[in-house]
Amino acid sequence: MSVTKTNFVFLLLIASLFTKTLYAEDWTSTQFKFIQHQPSSVQNPDIVDHIIELHLSDLTDRLLTGIDEGTAHTLETYLEQVAEQYRAQGFEGPAIDGRIAETGAYPIYVYDYPDKGAPTAKYYMRCEDLKTRRFIAVDASRVGGGGAINTKVYEDLAHELFHAIQGSYELFDKNCHLGDWIAEGTAEVMGIEMAKKYASLAVVGLVRWGGRSYSRPLRVGDDDPDRKDDGYWSSSLWRYIGEYISNGRSVIGSEEGKDPDYRYFAQFFNENITGKINENKELDWLDKSLRSHTKIGVGLNNIYSRFITTFSHYVPDRFGNEANTWRNCLYGEDVKCRDLNSNIASEVCNTVTLQKGSSQQVELSLSKAASNCVEVSISGAVKNDSFPVTQVRLYVEGNDKKQLESLWIGTKHEDKIQGKFESKEGESPVHNRIHGDDFVSWVYTLSTNPQIFTVSNIASKPSETNTQKFTIIAAYPHSEADINEPPGNAGN
Ligand SMILES: [Zn+2]
Repeated sequence: MSVTKTNFVFLLLIASLFTKTLYAEDWTSTQFKFIQHQPSSVQNPDIVDHIIELHLSDLTDRLLTGIDEGTAHTLETYLEQVAEQYRAQGFEGPAIDGRIAETGAYPIYVYDYPDKGAPTAKYYMRCEDLKTRRFIAVDASRVGGGGAINTKVYEDLAHELFHAIQGSYELFDKNCHLGDWIAEGTAEVMGIEMAKKYASLAVVGLVRWGGRSYSRPLRVGDDDPDRKDDGYWSSSLWRYIGEYISNGRSVIGSEEGKDPDYRYFAQFFNENITGKINENKELDWLDKSLRSHTKIGVGLNNIYSRFITTFSHYVPDRFGNEANTWRNCLYGEDVKCRDLNSNIASEVCNTVTLQKGSSQQVELSLSKAASNCVEVSISGAVKNDSFPVTQVRLYVEGNDKKQLESLWIGTKHEDKIQGKFESKEGESPVHNRIHGDDFVSWVYTLSTNPQIFTVSNIASKPSETNTQKFTIIAAYPHSEADINEPPGNAGN
């Protein structure tokens, strides 16, 4: 049977459809092939970027045109291991165009692009249906070679491959301005895990833990120039959720438990966000995803407050860095977590000092889904035979139940982080309430003196969280009998 021209075109069309099904996002191959040049201008609609970069770049940085075969082979093998791991964890295949016809391998383009402000590898995504070619590029001038591959390249390649996987989900493909705390935070945590696992890198010091400002809102938008690091290092929240699952919801403590289980990303990524992206939609997306996951089943208010409470302690415990410096990274103003190697002496938490039978108050202002810390110290003997009480009571008065219930306070071991709400509506206040008729309270047994408390502000429906300014009253009672009553004269 002869094939007419029309039939031939038809067959090609069928073949290309078949090829698309076979090679699009379904992991028929986990191989990679380094191509030692950039995609041609015809294939690469991002060529304008490259031209702009050429003009901006330092020409002395552009002498290298490729990398040696041995290095290319090492990195191809590494990427194959990473891809096998991503596939085994249940992710879609990467959205990378132009796969190698004979083998189905994914191309990785190696060429010299400007170092300044760019990672050693990058993924060119498709943005909201613009027909951009999707590919991964590696900067030839920074790969290294001859047995001395730049360790950052391992991390960046696994990070970019994860971006390519994200590109197979509508959540990312249709929302190219999804907040960095999601898009970069999840890619960052996976890049670091893979480099640790398959390149045996004693990875990346403190950066691995994801120190960022948590006194600013949890949500970090896309390409926010002021909060770039905060976006990437939201990796800490995703890592915590992975540990929460792998350790069966038990308290995540000082010791590293089982490796984090990141398979939950695949389920979360299947939950799309429609319409214009914003903070509220992103927070509620995560809340819904957490509640519907069979191994989590609680909301973001619960997870976030537990995370921040325990995270402020477990990094110093595990990594051995100075706890006060770490708190400055999380809660300080203008403190760059990049500078963590230099120890910071001053205590960043608001501090109250209590004596037996006294109370003190401290004012806090918290943004939407944000945290801060309070240090409570007891002066004089904390505990003796005639005075066995080692408990303090914290409470916040107010008139808005929802706002009061958005406050969570926890210690190192994250106990009792949800306060006890009591309404005094309709009764004549027994005590001199100065901030409202209702209150929410927490009772803690001190385990250290001073004791650090982490305070967070996040509502049951996270989008409904209001920025709030409030007063925490800390009381150290006369006797055990006092502990269940707020003191009458706040502010003594
Ligand atoms: Zn990235």
